[in-house]
Amino acid sequence: MSQLSYKPETCEELPFSDLHCHSCFSDGELTPAELLKGAADKGVGVFAITDHDTVVGVAELKSAAPEYGILAVAGTELTCQWGRSMVHIIGLGFDECHPALLDYLKQLDALRLMRAGLIAEKLCKRNIPDLLPRAIELAGNGQIGRPHFALAMVEAGVVNNEVQAFNRYLGAGKVGDVKVDWPTMAQGIDIIHQAGGVAVLAHPTKYNMTFTKVRLLVDSFSEQGGDAIEISYPGVESGHMLQLDKLASKHKMMVSAGSDFHKKQFHWTGIGKYPRYSSNNLHVLSKLLQH
Ligand code: AMP
Ligand code: MN
Ligand code: MN
Ligand code: MN
Repeated sequence: MSQLSYKPETCEELPFSDLHCHSCFSDGELTPAELLKGAADKGVGVFAITDHDTVVGVAELKSAAPEYGILAVAGTELTCQWGRSMVHIIGLGFDECHPALLDYLKQLDALRLMRAGLIAEKLCKRNIPDLLPRAIELAGNGQIGRPHFALAMVEAGVVNNEVQAFNRYLGAGKVGDVKVDWPTMAQGIDIIHQAGGVAVLAHPTKYNMTFTKVRLLVDSFSEQGGDAIEISYPGVESGHMLQLDKLASKHKMMVSAGSDFHKKQFHWTGIGKYPRYSSNNLHVLSKLLQH
């Protein structure tokens, strides 16, 4: 699959990668080609886009990647239900044309559109103008989400910036955080496996859970067949990174890392930017490069 040489035994010998990144096909601002240019500038050799609940940008990523000397990996970030919590499962290295996966994602298109209508209704009840048409327009050909409402709110002058929109209206427990029946975590893992990919638990400390609950989440992710844990991502504490790495060892799971880049304006993030770490566990990249 790759002309890159590597030794799977050690993370250090692997090519520099970014396996978590968003394009304009969900809530990121750049096209796949623009992301590839940014990735090449940072010396990234293997790059995945992981748009929320869609694979629409993957074909463009794959066709443009050779021009930048980058190995492209198919990716997505699936929104899943785990008990009462919403969690994100990253799929990597799957067949982006797999019929069952496309069917699964088609249902998510409908679910997200329905949810967008509900979000707009809830916001209207707070005397905010109807933002649905603009949010749909901002989402374009991509998957609609709360960040498009955040942008529409900034444009309408309801808030000063997107972070404020989340803090006041869209974040966890706020009026625009509308609950819908996302597929379960088991269904998310299963569809990634059906399409031939690896399932990675994204940013485990970003779900507003105690670390005790994070352990339960990892236990359950492992029991359901999950393959890897993302241990390095923006904002993760170094102590947590170590604990997540230990959990990966305990469950014989692989580890992954990525920038979760969305846009330049979020100056605390950048393509290829995630905390340095060391791990004795296998990196997902080793597996992806074996395909
Ligand atoms: P959704 O996929 O519609 O549930 O929206 C979730 C996305 O909103 C995440 O992937 C982030 O990109 C963004 N997001 C979540 N919380 C915040 C926040 N507090 N501030 C800014 N963006 C956020
Ligand atoms: Mn996002
Ligand atoms: Mn996420
Ligand atoms: Mn993400």
